[in-house]
Amino acid sequence: NPTNTSNFIRNIIVDDLKEGRVDSIVTRFPPEPNGYLHIGHAKSICLNFELAREFKGRAHLRFDDTNPLKEDTEYVESIKEDVKWLGFEWDGLYFASDYFEEMYKRAVLLINKGKAYVDDLSADEIRQTRGTLTEPGQNSPHRDRPVEENLDLFERMRGGEFQNGEKVLRAKIDMSSPNINLRDPVIYRIAHATHHNTGDKWCIYPMYAFAHPIEDAIEGITHSICTLEFEDQRPLYDWFIEQCEMESIPHQYEFARLNLTNTVMSKRKLKLLVDEGAVDGWDDPRMPTISGLRRRGYTPESIRTFCREIGVTKGSGVIDSKYLDHFLREDLKLKAPRTMGILKPLKVVITNYPEGQVEWLDAEINPENLEMGVRQVPFSREIYIEQDDFMENPPNKYFRLFPGNEVRLKHAYFIKCHDFVKDENGNVVEIHCTYDPETKSGSGFTGRKVKGTIHWVEASHALPAEFRLYEPLILDEENDEDDSSSFLDRINANSLVKEHGFVEPNMKDVKGQDKFQFFRHGYFNVDPKGSSEDHIVFNLIVSLKSSFEL
Ligand code: ATP
Ligand code: MG
Ligand code: MG
Repeated sequence: NPTNTSNFIRNIIVDDLKEGRVDSIVTRFPPEPNGYLHIGHAKSICLNFELAREFKGRAHLRFDDTNPLKEDTEYVESIKEDVKWLGFEWDGLYFASDYFEEMYKRAVLLINKGKAYVDDLSADEIRQTRGTLTEPGQNSPHRDRPVEENLDLFERMRGGEFQNGEKVLRAKIDMSSPNINLRDPVIYRIAHATHHNTGDKWCIYPMYAFAHPIEDAIEGITHSICTLEFEDQRPLYDWFIEQCEMESIPHQYEFARLNLTNTVMSKRKLKLLVDEGAVDGWDDPRMPTISGLRRRGYTPESIRTFCREIGVTKGSGVIDSKYLDHFLREDLKLKAPRTMGILKPLKVVITNYPEGQVEWLDAEINPENLEMGVRQVPFSREIYIEQDDFMENPPNKYFRLFPGNEVRLKHAYFIKCHDFVKDENGNVVEIHCTYDPETKSGSGFTGRKVKGTIHWVEASHALPAEFRLYEPLILDEENDEDDSSSFLDRINANSLVKEHGFVEPNMKDVKGQDKFQFFRHGYFNVDPKGSSEDHIVFNLIVSLKSSFEL
């Protein structure tokens, strides 16, 4: 239900402040720097940062960098850029890896309390002996190792004496708990790998379930907001907070992750698209990454409004991606200058217009926002129109150009077709028309009406431009729960089509990320990467019309 703007987490915070359970709130956005952020992360970012802002609390940006194998500073930098671009400033920048020493001490505390032990079982053996929903797990033969031996082994794990996988540290909780997460979860593993922040200082790394609550407590997080798949881990989260004797006590709250139609939404899958060369990098305009959406031309305002309007609930579902486009159009409507661009050019010669003459016509920059003023567009004997705006043998209700028919040229004159030229293959390559000087736009002419209005660009002043038209990258509506790579078979072969056409001469000085509404086509963004002084590339952000009903 896209109009559901309920936010149960906000209600909890209101209550906690009112009842004095907290004096002020501290939230965090905790990405793992193992990929670029996507629109799903935007939902979490907006939620955490907007709550902190509303209640005058703090929001931390914390890199949850506890897995050296997948993490990289390239991702750290892109994540910072994306959060800023979305419009947020963090009240503190933190790295989980800065807490490794503290986490180690807390693990030693668990060992001393008889709440953790070093296990020699392999990852497979641990999985096999953890039981199922109906079967309890089996104790490891090492479960009752004496504290002294555990302390010694754990220290030697840290010292690098063992190979990857040879030993782990496990919490000692309850192998027959109905919640499998509590059946002695692994809290440290050995990984001889260089970490992007700590280098080769460590060869043992804490697991997420142990590390995350400790990180939250160290930073004094009050409301630790995560997605629903962590709901079953909450008892474990609370267990670590209590048993590790953390002073500050954070609470975990879960909400449904965002899923969008025709969109894969997991860093693992997005990385696969990049690695397979299916797209041109993480910021390919077809990607649902923040950097892809930015390059495509989405605005931070539209993403924030979207995230607010979809609401925060416990019910998971798939949101129609057209809903995001709706907010984008709403945002760009008043901001984006209107202009005319021809994607598939067809030359028109206006045979009764004086040769060599050029006149400059006034055109509103934005009829919905008149303050944006007026631009001048040249008009002369030769112009380009869209190939689709002429038909030799039109069907019924075709109101554009055909032999004998008259149309209005936006901002200019009525023109009437009296002839056309074909090449040797039978393709129409040139149209001949006459214009009627009486019908000049703005002259108040009412003598007769025409049914079609088309756009055009004057030929001698036209600037060449490339238009990149996009369709969804993934064909079917995908259920993102499916963890396979089968989505690679459903890549849309038409997801990118390039057209080479013309734009108005006043586009000469556009900069990357400038946004326009091309009359009858849609909203376009100047591609910040593909464009240069003599080659402007426009990315289609979104078409004008939508089938989406609110
Ligand atoms: P992915 O599966 O895409 O890699 P993740 O959850 O592993 O996502 P993290 O870097 O751990 O990625 O995510 C940081 C935060 O963003 C987490 O709090 C996570 O819950 C949240 N998040 C990730 N994906 C979504 C989503 N689709 N909707 C809402 N929040 C999300
Ligand atoms: Mg994660
Ligand atoms: Mg992930």
